[in-house]
Amino acid sequence: MLASELAEKQRQFNCALEKYNGGSGYHLFDMLVASANVSLQAWLLWRSWQLSIGIAGHLAALLIAWVLADFVNGLVHMYMDNNDRYESIGGPFIANFHLHHKTPLYKEKFLPMVYFVESGSKVWLVPFLAATALLAMSGQANPLLLCTLVYAGTLSSVAEVSHYLCHTSRAPLAIFLGNCGILLSKRHHAGHHLQDNINYAFLSGLTDPLLNLIARRFSRGYKQHTDLLNATWQVDGESR
Ligand SMILES: [Zn+2]
Ligand SMILES: [Zn+2]
Repeated sequence: MLASELAEKQRQFNCALEKYNGGSGYHLFDMLVASANVSLQAWLLWRSWQLSIGIAGHLAALLIAWVLADFVNGLVHMYMDNNDRYESIGGPFIANFHLHHKTPLYKEKFLPMVYFVESGSKVWLVPFLAATALLAMSGQANPLLLCTLVYAGTLSSVAEVSHYLCHTSRAPLAIFLGNCGILLSKRHHAGHHLQDNINYAFLSGLTDPLLNLIARRFSRGYKQHTDLLNATWQVDGESR
């Protein structure tokens, strides 16, 4: 990238983030997205627990959903880390997302609050959960498929909590779950921040070998791209 292009992109990044931080509109939008996601998840979970697929069916759906949510959220992360359209309508949200490389530490919060707040960044999840709700209301869906979709949609928010715990918590249970591969392990996820274009998964990291293959083929990475674009932004403190 030429120096003039880089300076222009850095200006666009700073403008977009000033917009995000400047008015309450963007934060209000995040709150609306979080409310839509969490209420749809709650309703769908209530509906899916009434389906007669037995404990084994629910466990199978949960297992498939754990893998699916890890992969899909990793793909979205890869797309977002490469997206530099700061002047688009979603530009302020993209710029805010890119701060996770500059200030990976979170401000410590009560875990249900982390779940709610971080669900507000998942705009794509609203149409996914709404479509799943329509499927549930139709009464035509295969119950195992429906349960899998509901669990995957809910675990997409759990993935944000897993990322938060990975960066912020020293609780023995969180470390144990990370080391078991149920949640994201600190050692595994450190690769995303220390190296380039790898380990995009947020929930457990299980699908990172596949995501890394896709990244190598389709993504240009972030160390020499979007990470350079936020270089002139002055961060306020060490956590976000
Ligand atoms: Zn990232
Ligand atoms: Zn991280």
